[in-house]
Amino acid sequence: MAGAKHKKIMNFIGGELVPPASGDYFGNEDPSTGHIYSEVPDSDEKDLDAAVAAAEKAAPVWKNMPGESRAEIMHKLAALIEQRQDEFARAECIDNGKPLSLCKSVDIPRGISNLRFFADAGKDMTGESFRADKTFSYTLRQPFGVVATISPWNLPLLLFTWKLAPALASGNCVIAKPSEVTPMTAYMLSTLAEEAGFPPGVLNVVHGKGARIGAAITRHPKIPAISFTGGTVTGREIYGTGSRLLKKISLELGGKNPTVIFDDAKWDSALKGAVAAAFTNQGQICLCGSRILVQQTIYTKFRDAFVKLAGAQKVGDPLDEATTQGAIVSHAHMDKVMGYINLAREEGGEILCGGKRLFMKGRCKTGYFIEPTVIEGLGASCRTNQEEIFGPVVTLMPFRNEDEAIALANSTPYGLAASIWTESKERARNVAARIDSGIVWVNCWNLRDLRTPFGGMKNSGVGREGGFRALEFFTEEKTVCQPAV
Ligand code: NDP
Repeated sequence: MAGAKHKKIMNFIGGELVPPASGDYFGNEDPSTGHIYSEVPDSDEKDLDAAVAAAEKAAPVWKNMPGESRAEIMHKLAALIEQRQDEFARAECIDNGKPLSLCKSVDIPRGISNLRFFADAGKDMTGESFRADKTFSYTLRQPFGVVATISPWNLPLLLFTWKLAPALASGNCVIAKPSEVTPMTAYMLSTLAEEAGFPPGVLNVVHGKGARIGAAITRHPKIPAISFTGGTVTGREIYGTGSRLLKKISLELGGKNPTVIFDDAKWDSALKGAVAAAFTNQGQICLCGSRILVQQTIYTKFRDAFVKLAGAQKVGDPLDEATTQGAIVSHAHMDKVMGYINLAREEGGEILCGGKRLFMKGRCKTGYFIEPTVIEGLGASCRTNQEEIFGPVVTLMPFRNEDEAIALANSTPYGLAASIWTESKERARNVAARIDSGIVWVNCWNLRDLRTPFGGMKNSGVGREGGFRALEFFTEEKTVCQPAV
């Protein structure tokens, strides 16, 4: 149970920071110490009904506000976060366990750019026009009114804003539910909403547990569209309930992404790229490359170099700027990842480095740390190579030629991302075209142009976000038809 001495996070409903209707809270841990340091509202239907009522009331105001004015408010919010960048970065680091350096260089700046990007993109939304002999038609893109976003713990502010920003920019009022595991920066953002100029009820943040408040959002009759990022199992549940109610649902789900290294790849960049794809954010990014496929001709040399770099990662206190590997987000998740390492052993895998929970000294001695772990000797179809582990654990597999590389890359139920490393432009084109994933990086990993479509094939998702795709998701398209003159 959470103690009274901890900071209480509040819901943000109708422009006010409010406690949950039930008065119930649960504890929020700092995973680098395992200690509870704040309390999260355990919100329920009553809180959701209040948020929906506030959003419905605000909907005409926000919808009818000129796009420029909405953009100005969103830019102001971005600027307010920017002024407090260090505070946000530290909060994200403590809440999630990820290295402070990553929060400063990626999470918070990207959260700010999401707001700015969609503030501007929202102003550029256009319709189409169609002229025929007898008709002239044009389309309007109109906001739903009230929409919801549900986001995960791995990139808390980044993914929270990735959904919130296009929803707001397209003229919707939003009920946003951050992960119960990492609610802090979403809460901090909500405390700035009034100063940024959001009319009350436009932005509502409801904290709590997925199974309770998340499920309530999914079945709420007055929320016609939900944008979800999270695990495939949860996504399936939301899709099941939401689609029966004919809601529009966008699903960004898990991945089991291949990193494919051909023998003509530039050695240093391929090696460093594979390490970054494997271990950034302790491997807790949906885009992480957790299956490393290496051409047979360079397999042994690459494996040895990769293992050396994996072993050289600095696992430690996330607040220490030199740390490259912070804490795993929770005890439960650490147990899950350790379970997969044990499974890999049972399946006959050889642990080339790592494989153990790490116990730190000092401040983080009770925190949740796992050594970067590299495994070889497993077949493509075993569970270790089929299921998303979402931790600092990768497998290495050799392949002989392009066809075999593609078959291995496509051998899982997921299809989110892939990175291929080769100096042959022709091979890059061929392989990119044949890999079943929503994004294929060539000689790079995790580079993003926010205008491009983003999403997964197979069990990795339904629909695309990014750029105008996200704005389109949050709008209804209407055709207006009149006689041609
Ligand atoms: P979860 O699916 O457990 O949770 C995601 C969000 O859904 C959280 O806010 C969670 O709340 C909420 N939720 C949980 N159960 C329900 C429910 N029954 N109804 C409605 N909402 C619910 O994912 P994680 O937070 O564990 O995130 C990790 C997963 O996210 C990985 O699988 C990863 O691959 C995926 N992901 C995908 C990305 C993509 O773009 N494709 C990007 C980033 C992550 P609570 O936290 O309170 O349980």
